[in-house]
Amino acid sequence: MDFNDIIGHEDTIDNLKKTIEKGHISHSYLFEGEESIGKRKVALAFAKTLLCRSEGVEPCNRCNSCLKFDNFNHPDFTLIEPEKELIEKKKIDKLLSNINIAPLESKRKVIIIDDSHYMRLETQNALLKTLEEPPHYINIILITSNSNNIIPTILSRCEIVNFYPVQKNKIEELLVGKYGKTREEANFIAHFTKGSLGKSIIYSKSPYFFKLRDETLDIIDQILRGDEFNIFVSMDFFNNNKDNYEDILDILLYWFRDLILYKKIGSSELLINQDKTTLLSNQSFLKEDRINDIIEKIMETRENINRNVNYQLAIETMLLNMQEV
Ligand SMILES: [Zn+2]
Repeated sequence: MDFNDIIGHEDTIDNLKKTIEKGHISHSYLFEGEESIGKRKVALAFAKTLLCRSEGVEPCNRCNSCLKFDNFNHPDFTLIEPEKELIEKKKIDKLLSNINIAPLESKRKVIIIDDSHYMRLETQNALLKTLEEPPHYINIILITSNSNNIIPTILSRCEIVNFYPVQKNKIEELLVGKYGKTREEANFIAHFTKGSLGKSIIYSKSPYFFKLRDETLDIIDQILRGDEFNIFVSMDFFNNNKDNYEDILDILLYWFRDLILYKKIGSSELLINQDKTTLLSNQSFLKEDRINDIIEKIMETRENINRNVNYQLAIETMLLNMQEV
C-alpha cells in the first residue's frame, strides 16, 4: 500500500510530501480528525515512505524496507494501538526502553500510536520525556479523534496534521465501483456516514443496513397514518434492534429532513433518500411545522437514551409523539 491507495486527503498528503522534499520532517506528529476517515492509512503510507531506502516522497514498493513494511515485519517500525480503549503503560515503557537502539533496516525508526487519547496521564507523561529529546532517527506519529484527552505539553511538541471528512462524491465513486452499490445506495451511505470512509465501507458490506432502513421507514409510515396499535407491535422491532438505535434515529432524522426538502423542491439530487421518492411523495401530506416537531422529538429521544432514560419508554414516547404532534 501507499498514498495512491488512499481516497481523499489530497492536500494533507501533498503537505506531508513537501515536508519530506524540503527535509523538514518533524520528530513528532499528531494526526487529528474524526474517527474512521483515513488518518491511520495516511500515517502508514507516510511511515512506509520515511523508512523506504529510496528516500523519495513516496515509497518505492520494491526495496527491502518496503517489502518488510508490507509484510508487517519491519524491524524499525512499531504500531501501538489500544485494547479495550486502553493503551497500557507497559507497552509504552517497552517501546521507550528500545528507543535508543539504532535502526536496523532503514535510516529511521517510525512509531505510530493509534487512538493515542487512550493513553492514561501517567503513560502520556512517560512518552513526553522522549518527545522532548528524541534520538535523531525517531519519528513518532500520534493519531487521535479526541485531542482534548491529550496533555497540552505533548500537543505543543507535535506538528499537528488535521484531517477532514472525505468528499461525498469520492466515497460514492468508491462504493459504486468497488463495493457494487447502486448510485442511490452509495449516495445514502456517503451522507449517512458524514464523509467517514471507514464507516461507509462497513455499511456497504453490511447485508442488514438497507433492510434496517426499509423496516424503520415502513413502521414510521404506518404510525404517521395514525395506526395506534402499530406503536406497540413495532416495539418488537425497536427492542430487537436496540444496539442499532443510533442508526435508526439517524435514518429517521435524514428521512424527515428529506421530507421537508421534498415538499419544497420535489425530486432532487439534494435528497439523501433518492430511491424513496414515492414514499416521500405519499407522506408529503404532513405539514412542515409537524415535520419540524417530529425532528425535534427524535433528537430529544436520542439525548434521553444517551442519558440512560429507559430505552423502551423513550422510543414509545417518541412514536406516540410522532402521531400526536
Ligand atoms: Zn522502498
